[in-house]
Amino acid sequence: MVLVRFAPSPTGPLHLGGLRMALYNHLFSKKNGGKWILRIEDTDKTRYVPGSVEGIQKALEWAGLNYDYGPGREGPHGPYFQSQRLDLYKGYASKLIESGHAYRCFCTPDTLATVKEKLARSGASASYDRRCLHLTEEEAARKVRAGEKHTIRFNVRASCTTALPSREPTQDLIFRSLRDAHQSLATDPILLKSDLFPTYHLASIVDDHEMGITHVLRGEEWITSLPLHQDLYAALKLPPPTFAHFPILLNPDGSKMSKRHGDIRVEDFIKRGWEPDAVLNWLLLCGYGVRTSSSQDKGNSKVSAHDQQAHHLESNTVMNLDEMVDVFDISHITQRNTILEAANLHYINKHHLMRKMKNETELKKLVEIANLKLLEKFPSR
Ligand code: GLU
Repeated sequence: MVLVRFAPSPTGPLHLGGLRMALYNHLFSKKNGGKWILRIEDTDKTRYVPGSVEGIQKALEWAGLNYDYGPGREGPHGPYFQSQRLDLYKGYASKLIESGHAYRCFCTPDTLATVKEKLARSGASASYDRRCLHLTEEEAARKVRAGEKHTIRFNVRASCTTALPSREPTQDLIFRSLRDAHQSLATDPILLKSDLFPTYHLASIVDDHEMGITHVLRGEEWITSLPLHQDLYAALKLPPPTFAHFPILLNPDGSKMSKRHGDIRVEDFIKRGWEPDAVLNWLLLCGYGVRTSSSQDKGNSKVSAHDQQAHHLESNTVMNLDEMVDVFDISHITQRNTILEAANLHYINKHHLMRKMKNETELKKLVEIANLKLLEKFPSR
């Protein structure tokens, strides 16, 4: 069964980009008869903002995006807060040490800064000189016994030569074949921090495996982490899930959507009274990759029936959440970054309101008819 997850970090209020990822996870799971999990990735204590989990839950509830499992909806894969799963990550980090795919690093922040600076000055692309890799087992054990603070680093080179003898391009459901991007990775990234909290990379691959996640749907900003994640799966001899990276949202001026550009917090949309289905509808259409009937394939007899159906979806087609599930097709997501046009939301919202009013009027009529029938049966004296 398809099982996906929306995995926000509780670092502040939910933004439109996060809501959009929750929507895609919802649509993909429901379209495939599957389920989705809300997983709280709270492993960075320095960025934790109290109240964010409640804010995320409130925003999802407002949008009608009801997760199947997660905080408050317990299931077989819990707990759903990463901070409650620390032993699991520690266990996996130990396995990697045993197999030579990870090592303990005792360098202090000061040493690391000096090493980094020196490497940069010499023109090297490495960010760490891997000095702790050369500690003997006894040396490392002695330091651990003496209570020296340390992190656990991934031994990227060991993983390159032993775990993945031939690197096949990674397949992504949206970006298709991705060529290796290992050069851009940090030298031997840290997997477990000195406070015994994992970094995002270790926690996310462990949980995706442990929770039985079949497809990882996440933002394009994580695409550069993919080679590392694939290496970690290979080093642990675990089958990776299928990945789909979604292009990021842009402002109409082409800049990356961020907090600095006004209202992107879902709570602002709630406060302003926008219809939840209209906001979802707007988010879906802006990146759906559907071509309009005026697009270049028009009149092309080779266009499949499926594509023709997709062509009828214009950038302002009004749909509720169930209808969105019906039309959703991940193969139609484009690789292009998508621009959110505020004007489209006004149009879509108006039509959602008109639909709602029509439904309410129809409901009122039905109630009136029912009342009349009651009166006929039991006329008042
Ligand atoms: N915690 C990450 C975020 O907030 C999740 C990335 C992922 O889905 O793997 O973006």
